[in-house]
Amino acid sequence: MPQKVPFDIIKKYSKYLSDRVSEYISRASHDIDSIYTINDIRLARFSLDWLTFQQQLISTAVQCSKSNKWISLQGLIEYCSKMMEISDPTLGVFSTIYGATGAFDYYNRIDSSSDIDYFIILVHEFDPPIFWSLAIHEIAHCWLSSKDVVMKISKQIHSGLDIKYQEGRIEEAICDAIATSFIGPPYPFAYIECLWPVFNQFADEHPHHSFRVHLMTEVLRENGFNKTANDIEEIARNILVYDWADEEIVDSIDLIKEAACQTSFKFTLDSMTEIDYDIVEFTSQPPNDVRCLFNVGWKLINNAPDNRYFNVFESVSNIIQMSLEGKSTAFKP
Ligand SMILES: [Zn+2]
Repeated sequence: MPQKVPFDIIKKYSKYLSDRVSEYISRASHDIDSIYTINDIRLARFSLDWLTFQQQLISTAVQCSKSNKWISLQGLIEYCSKMMEISDPTLGVFSTIYGATGAFDYYNRIDSSSDIDYFIILVHEFDPPIFWSLAIHEIAHCWLSSKDVVMKISKQIHSGLDIKYQEGRIEEAICDAIATSFIGPPYPFAYIECLWPVFNQFADEHPHHSFRVHLMTEVLRENGFNKTANDIEEIARNILVYDWADEEIVDSIDLIKEAACQTSFKFTLDSMTEIDYDIVEFTSQPPNDVRCLFNVGWKLINNAPDNRYFNVFESVSNIIQMSLEGKSTAFKP
């Protein structure tokens, strides 16, 4: 029997928020000191903003869930969350960006917390499923919510950056390392293919692309994917203009690699049980294991002759979508 998650949990959380709004308003009308009234009104407004956000989320999620593509995405997200032992429900939503709620900062701003929690993973709506390894970086943000690994690593380095940016960059780098350690080459391949056009731009809260790609190759080597790591380094040399060693948080690289490669859910070259597929075999009987599915898929795409590239790309993406559909326990609301 499929669990009635994660839609029910959003409805429950919305109910919790609306109860809080009424409570704050009623308290504000009885406050004897105006300073408390102002505070209660502020809390009511903040809860109301969150409530509006939840309502938007429900309607977007309901809209998304009408497509088979969403059921497949949910299949991948549920698979990853289970492997990473993320206990809170995790819901995928198609958007125009990649992102994750991680820990809600809502709790830090009100005077009590709810025991209802769930995560939202935003995935770019137009990306074919072969690029969904990028969602694993977002799931890693949620995984980090219950860990102190960012702070621990941050305390051991001196980047010269403002602490907010130092921690932000370390968190982003850990999520890249976790995603690479979790699924292997499909994450760096999707990262390079998808983000190529914006490779020479970077924001303060993200490490330089050259550092991020270098870290991924280090993680791949640690997990036995030496040949792929060399291939990616070769690609990176041709497209990246910055030296990875110039990144401010460079001293954290070994600590980050260690944190990602010591997890129970890492995926090594030895775990690849199903390798020798051609596109006909892949289409008729794709690998059952999700991680092998993505790895074999990318191998077929990378080995496709130029004149067949787009056909293979599309076939692999379709097969991945169909295979993931069966992995989801999500129901339609
Ligand atoms: Zn991120």
